[in-house]
Amino acid sequence: ATDTAGLVKILEAVAGKISENREFLTELDSAIGDADHGINMSKGFSAVLEKLHSQKIDDCGTILKTVGMTLVSTVGGASGPLYGTAFMKAGQAVAGKSSLDFEDFVTILDQALEGIKYRGKAQRGDKTIIDALEPAVEILRKEKDCTDKKAAMDKALNAAKEGVEYTRSIIAKKGRASYLGERSIGHQDPGATSCYLMLQAAIEKIK
Ligand code: ADP
Ligand code: MG
Ligand code: MG
Repeated sequence: ATDTAGLVKILEAVAGKISENREFLTELDSAIGDADHGINMSKGFSAVLEKLHSQKIDDCGTILKTVGMTLVSTVGGASGPLYGTAFMKAGQAVAGKSSLDFEDFVTILDQALEGIKYRGKAQRGDKTIIDALEPAVEILRKEKDCTDKKAAMDKALNAAKEGVEYTRSIIAKKGRASYLGERSIGHQDPGATSCYLMLQAAIEKIK
């Protein structure tokens, strides 16, 4: 199980991964968007780290809610409200908990997905964050009671990676990339990619 300090460490790892991939995410967004996804995300997560380091929060739900609210208020662009809602919804689901186990981790991702779907109204195949997150969540839902949790997390991460690859082959139906229509084919979706990277950082830390 992970306590609040452990959760902050996971979030630091996520923030670090985003910051390392700032240029890469922005480059992906320059092909089918407005070249700011890496900038948006790293700005948001820098603010998240500042916020988390400025106070000690003794409840995992409130930590995640704080992350979500900070992302909504600091990230301009589609990804801020989407990831913000994801973290806020995840926080609600574990409200009052001072530690989290594997089942909570599954619930968090499940609720994050629901939050993004609710806010953005995208479906699988629309070339968005959902294409990475939903395949991972589907596996984790099935494996919620499994004995080999590490293997389940690897399997989920792999499914997210395949989801990112899949975004290359499809037409964007949501967000800025949808303005390109068929010309969005052949390019990897920036949001699906950031989602995969965040999952990768979190899972590496949890294992
Ligand atoms: P903006 O497009 O406003 O500049 P970003 O560049 O930060 O915002 O984020 C773009 C990413 O947001 C896209 O690559 C896509 O994955 C994601 N996205 C856009 N619209 C939606 C939506 N309705 N649902 C889920 N994800 C979306
Ligand atoms: Mg953009
Ligand atoms: Mg933008």
